[in-house]
Amino acid sequence: MSSALSDEFVLPTNKEIGATSHPEPDPDSVCTYLCGNSLGPLSKRSKALVEEELKVWGTCAVTGHFSHPHGRNWVDFCDHITPLLAELVGAKEKEVACMGTLTANLHLMMDSFYKPTPERYKILCEAHAFPSDQYAFASQALAHGLDPAKAVLEMSPRPGEYTLREEDILDTIAREGSSIALVLFSGVQYYTGQWFPMQSITRAAQAQGSICGWDLAHAVGNVPLALHDWGADFAVWCTYKYVNAGPGSIAGLYVHEKWKESELPKFAGWWGHDPATRFAMPPKFSPIEGAQGFQQSNPGILVAASLLGSLQIFKEAGMMKPLRERSLQLTGALENLLTKSKYFVPPEEASARQSTKPAFTIITPADPDSRGAQLSLLFLPSGVMQKVHNALNSLGVISDERNPDIIRLAPAPLFNTLKDCEQGAIMLERVLDNLV
Ligand SMILES: *Cc1c(COP(=O)(O)O)cnc(C)c1O
Repeated sequence: MSSALSDEFVLPTNKEIGATSHPEPDPDSVCTYLCGNSLGPLSKRSKALVEEELKVWGTCAVTGHFSHPHGRNWVDFCDHITPLLAELVGAKEKEVACMGTLTANLHLMMDSFYKPTPERYKILCEAHAFPSDQYAFASQALAHGLDPAKAVLEMSPRPGEYTLREEDILDTIAREGSSIALVLFSGVQYYTGQWFPMQSITRAAQAQGSICGWDLAHAVGNVPLALHDWGADFAVWCTYKYVNAGPGSIAGLYVHEKWKESELPKFAGWWGHDPATRFAMPPKFSPIEGAQGFQQSNPGILVAASLLGSLQIFKEAGMMKPLRERSLQLTGALENLLTKSKYFVPPEEASARQSTKPAFTIITPADPDSRGAQLSLLFLPSGVMQKVHNALNSLGVISDERNPDIIRLAPAPLFNTLKDCEQGAIMLERVLDNLV
């Protein structure tokens, strides 16, 4: 296994995260951070670049836009970012833009691509999509005068199952296709950790004449993506989860090059205007060709600097191919340890279980091709999860809880190690031992 780049990151110590259990863990040791799916840690590169930009701001002020001492003029700062971002998502450079925030970008994309007609007006998505996406879908339907209950078509797993079957998704697309305007799934589902079969969903949607867009919040930096080759129409993502660019950092979007300006009306802003004449301030908007034509405002340089730093680390690691290999090994190892636990029950037994003794199952698909780094543990009976989560924290294992009963553990291949997986599994066993 290639080695982790843990040294490139600043991770909290046990003391800093309030791991107070005695006698363990050592207060000055780094905690076991299995939560990079929720918020990636600070990289030393990002820290250095943000500090550098603060210094430039203090020493150059407005001249930093056009004459930057480190060759990163703020006026075209994102030109340093888009090549790396394009590589990360498998797209051409002009197909990606570094801008805004995830939900705002989702609205922009839906504004351009969701064009309901009386016959074709539905949005197909997974049930229990991330709430922000659900709100966006419903409000977009309302903005077109449609009833969200009719316009938003949600797919649920079969009874007793936790994730969607590919065949069921493809059947639904085939059956409902003529009424579907937009198919919009998450690449990797935030709750279950399921990595959807993106290429086959994209093909099936487009074969029905539907647009296919993706929310890649939990997929980018986690699984290898080939948006251009898969032919996805558009995609949006944030950069603070597996990409480690910091809380609320600048986001990204992708638009396939097949889409031409004239076909895509948009809410324009000056940063989407041709840079050659942007500062001549002409009255008529003349967009940059491709995704960058969607840019509205000049980008936040501090968050963009942070993103640049984290993308440089991905580049150093060789991007997603070696990282995915490492990820498969780590997640496989964690799964192996967890399924050996005396508290583990297989998913097919979990839904019918009556016992009041604590137990857990894994609802993330067992097939490595259908998941990324995250394993979602479902705790039984209801109410146990919160106690487990708090106890793990006090033992220095940072996980993330999703009500009602889920704890997500994500060994991120950039900075997590086998030891983190072992520590997570050992501590979980100890916590459960102490509950019974
Ligand atoms: C994390 C996440 C969001 C958060 O949206 P922001 O606009 O960045 O606050 C939205 N959707 C999904 C699927 C997410 O995983």
